[in-house]
Amino acid sequence: MSNVAIVGGGITGLVAAFELKRRGVPFTLFEASDRVGGVIQTVRDQGFLAEFGPNTLLETSPKITELIRALGIESRRWYSNPQNSKRFIVRGGKPRAMPASPPQFFTNSFFSWSAKFALLMEPFIKASPPDIEESLAQFVKRRLGQEFLDYAINPFVAGVYAGDPERLSVKHAFAKLHALEQKYGSLIKGQLQGARERKKRNEVAKDRAKMISFDHGLQVLTDALGATVGENLRLNSPVQCVKQVEGGWALTGRATALSSDLGGTSAGLPFTHVLLTSPAHRLAELSIESPSGGDLSMLGEIVYPPVTSYVMGFRREDVAHPLDGFGVLIPKVENRHCLGTLFTSSLFSDRAPEGHVTLTNYIGGMRAPELALKSPNEVRNLVMDDLRELLGVHGEPVWEHVKQWSKAIPQYEVGYGRFKDFMDRFETAHPGLQFAGHYRDGISLSDSILAGFKAAERIGAEQNS
Ligand SMILES: Cc1cc2nc3c(=O)[nH]c(=O)nc-3n(C[C@H](O)[C@H](O)[C@H](O)COP(=O)(O)OP(=O)(O)OC[C@H]3O[C@@H](n4cnc5c(N)ncnc54)[C@H](O)[C@@H]3O)c2cc1C
Repeated sequence: MSNVAIVGGGITGLVAAFELKRRGVPFTLFEASDRVGGVIQTVRDQGFLAEFGPNTLLETSPKITELIRALGIESRRWYSNPQNSKRFIVRGGKPRAMPASPPQFFTNSFFSWSAKFALLMEPFIKASPPDIEESLAQFVKRRLGQEFLDYAINPFVAGVYAGDPERLSVKHAFAKLHALEQKYGSLIKGQLQGARERKKRNEVAKDRAKMISFDHGLQVLTDALGATVGENLRLNSPVQCVKQVEGGWALTGRATALSSDLGGTSAGLPFTHVLLTSPAHRLAELSIESPSGGDLSMLGEIVYPPVTSYVMGFRREDVAHPLDGFGVLIPKVENRHCLGTLFTSSLFSDRAPEGHVTLTNYIGGMRAPELALKSPNEVRNLVMDDLRELLGVHGEPVWEHVKQWSKAIPQYEVGYGRFKDFMDRFETAHPGLQFAGHYRDGISLSDSILAGFKAAERIGAEQNS
């Protein structure tokens, strides 16, 4: 019979716990902090709502829909406001609506005629040889040209990864894009063909998936998951050492919740599986004691840039822009301070009191890590500078919330395969140890949810085999 230790109570670990429980597999979830949710945390105050980390979840798979239903929080799920689906990109110092469909792309003046022509020519560009690993920037320049890179991909990557397209690997960071080129020879042809295949698999592409949150923010999801884990949850229990013992693995840590004598489960038995879902930079500090060796320090080389999220509430009349969209992203070539701003109260209702709006601003990332690390007051001044010029803000915020992440989002850079290969080899050499989460399975919340399911299903299948 399996008995699983889950290290980390972010969304990945929580979903794995949920699925193991559903399958009747015994487990214990060890979380270092005093709460579950990891980077997902919501604060509601004076009618404003701020997320510390992610703001939205993409419903890319029926598994996510089913999870929400099974947790009984379906009635609390909110879809983003369809009237505000416009995405603004700053061009020439002003936010301009991005074309939302192929006909708009050709009729709207956002892109120049040469960019439009480059898109028409895309199906005729040869695929790169499969053994060459390109950066996202190289890939986009080759297939679509510099203007696409500067005004579509650069701001998009800032919004998703807080990343730099010159450093991200197209193969690892945008695996589906890479696969489209390799399989169909063209992104456009692949997009059309891929849509048919996704339909067969009942999946939704990320650019088409519905964007959701909950009445009280994303923490509703992790709180509901935490409640189902119940007595199997050990908070304030940072795992420091995982040791191979007769019949499995034993864990030690600082907290009393972890048995200090290296016993594993409450019955004193070792764990058959240990699922490692804490961030890569924390895994790098973990000591693994095993006859096969166990140095995870290499995972500390995965780059996590700092990002600061600065949420501000304003009186509606103090913001000139209609805020009739999802938000605004800022390309690097525009030389501003912020990466972008979400129009939080346009996306979901009840994110600001009557007569007010909430704006969530991100600064730092790979583009300007030093800005994220400035004092909150300095960050505030930089954000206000951008808001005044780009959105016509002419008053002071009436409500503020700031969260500085010193290590925010892992960058799947060119050469990331060496980390993935390392994890594969490590798992083979240490049967029962498994890696899952944002540093391996994709950086988005939906990727992490699916990673949690996959890890639990794999363990469940081993038990039944
Ligand atoms: C600022 C920001 C904005 C984002 N925005 C979005 C967005 O809008 N949409 C989206 O889809 N994704 C977004 N993401 C990404 C998404 O939030 C993450 O990929 C996802 O939440 C990661 O979940 P996780 O469980 O893998 O890791 P984490 O949330 O990092 O959880 C890991 C857990 O492990 C615990 N831990 C660490 N060390 C130990 C130890 N030794 N022992 C026990 N426990 C330990 C930690 O305390 C933590 O609770 C954002 C991320 C950030 C940082």
